[in-house]
Amino acid sequence: MPAALGILGGTFDPPHLGHVAAATAAWKQLGLDELRVIPAGQAPLRNAAPLAPADERMAMCKLAFASCPWAVVDNREIRRAGVSWSIDTARELVREFPLAWRVWVLGADQLARLDRWKDITELCGLVDFAVLSRDGISTVPPASLAGCIRLTVLAAPPVNVSSTALRQVHCRGDLARNGLPSSVARHIDERHLYPS
Ligand code: ATP
Repeated sequence: MPAALGILGGTFDPPHLGHVAAATAAWKQLGLDELRVIPAGQAPLRNAAPLAPADERMAMCKLAFASCPWAVVDNREIRRAGVSWSIDTARELVREFPLAWRVWVLGADQLARLDRWKDITELCGLVDFAVLSRDGISTVPPASLAGCIRLTVLAAPPVNVSSTALRQVHCRGDLARNGLPSSVARHIDERHLYPS
């Protein structure tokens, strides 16, 4: 049983070095025993469905985190029907790891809109949060959460990469793959994901 459990949710369409950097910073700086990488089946607050199918996003996450023995790629949100609400995931993890210190790791872009997450007050009681700066966005939580959120700001150099930018580069047929682990880039080619 991990005493300190990190949680990194996302669409991972595709997973990239920014995700690995965020997970690694959390693992090192928070002293995590394990970090769950949890690809969403159907992410809330997104207009478009993921381009890559769920099983391919799972496979890419396993490749991206292959060199991190403390990372476990967890398919619970893909198995669960409907919208992948974080509160449902947190409730499950509380049941499975009742004694663990549970920390939800996110980028500053997600922190900025955390007040829009479903049942956020309850979620703040179930997990702590750790944030990594991204794109110059503030790491201060929304004012409405000031009374309930427990937040650690991770100190790490920003990694300026996003799944959106990588999908666009790929769709243009551009061969530049900065920001993707090479194993993930190979998988994308072999499986013809993100066709132009
Ligand atoms: P998209 O561009 O499709 O929105 P994304 O690159 O933001 O995707 P997600 O899978 O949505 O990737 O992100 C999962 C989590 O990882 C989120 O909490 C997000 O803020 C964080 N994250 C993603 N990229 C970075 C990065 N470069 N630096 C820090 N955190 C990041």
